[in-house]
Amino acid sequence: MPVLEVRALSKIYEGKIATKALDHVTFRIEEGDFVGIMGPSGSGKTTLLNVISTIDEPTSGEVILNGQNPHRMDRQQTALFRRRELGFIFQHFNLLDTLTAEENMVLPLTLDGISVRDMKAKAQEMASRLGIESVLNKYMYEMSGGQMQRTAIARAMIHEPSLILADEPTGNLDSKSSRDVMEAFARMNEQYKATIMMVTHDALAASYCHRVLFIKDGKLYNELYRGNNRQAF
Ligand code: ADP
Ligand code: ADP
Repeated sequence: MPVLEVRALSKIYEGKIATKALDHVTFRIEEGDFVGIMGPSGSGKTTLLNVISTIDEPTSGEVILNGQNPHRMDRQQTALFRRRELGFIFQHFNLLDTLTAEENMVLPLTLDGISVRDMKAKAQEMASRLGIESVLNKYMYEMSGGQMQRTAIARAMIHEPSLILADEPTGNLDSKSSRDVMEAFARMNEQYKATIMMVTHDALAASYCHRVLFIKDGKLYNELYRGNNRQAF
């Protein structure tokens, strides 16, 4: 069973002039996949993420996540399902600057009634996988962009979601930090079986993906696969 199946997904924004933001988009993501989504501004990438994450409703078509359609659930079920199945990573990190890195990381666990001791152990484990143990007790102003984004990756993955949705994760980073962050994604994918869907404009970031889907005017129009060699793109 694929982790994500998107079937003939369309989204029309009604208005004075209706906009077809997504036009019969179909693809699937298997467990362990690392998929990039690229396309020009206004091509429908954010809409796609928002419909998959149930922030937005599709006009037609289906999103099947782990065999279930979150758009067919009631609000409460959808919220729980989203929290369990998805991890989010944003361009601007969206970390809370009043909390330490560790406190940010364990946020998704705080609603699950897990003991403080177990949360700390989990944060330690995630930090060691991501090479950011030294920042666990730091606040955002004490951290580099790359450290902040890796903290965000730890937060997104700490509850072991089925799918990670990343929106321009390197968009706010310099080349060195971008590399650190993409190496961290690659490690989480290869060693810890994270399944990742990443929207990006960044060729370096895309070069870490197993395959890249290209979208334009709301339509998928091309797909590239990577061989063993990253330079193949
Ligand atoms: P991208 O993320 O690739 O830049 P978007 O998904 O944001 O593209 O936008 C796709 C199209 O849908 C664009 O034409 C955009 O103007 C339009 N759009 C996005 N959100 C809305 C909205 N809430 N209302 C009306 N039109 C929208
Ligand atoms: P930009 O689209 O200008 O690059 P961002 O990277 O901040 O700006 O946001 C990209 C998209 O990520 C937004 O359009 C929105 O859909 C989503 N997003 C950003 N922050 C949040 C948030 N706190 N909660 C949910 N979605 C968010």
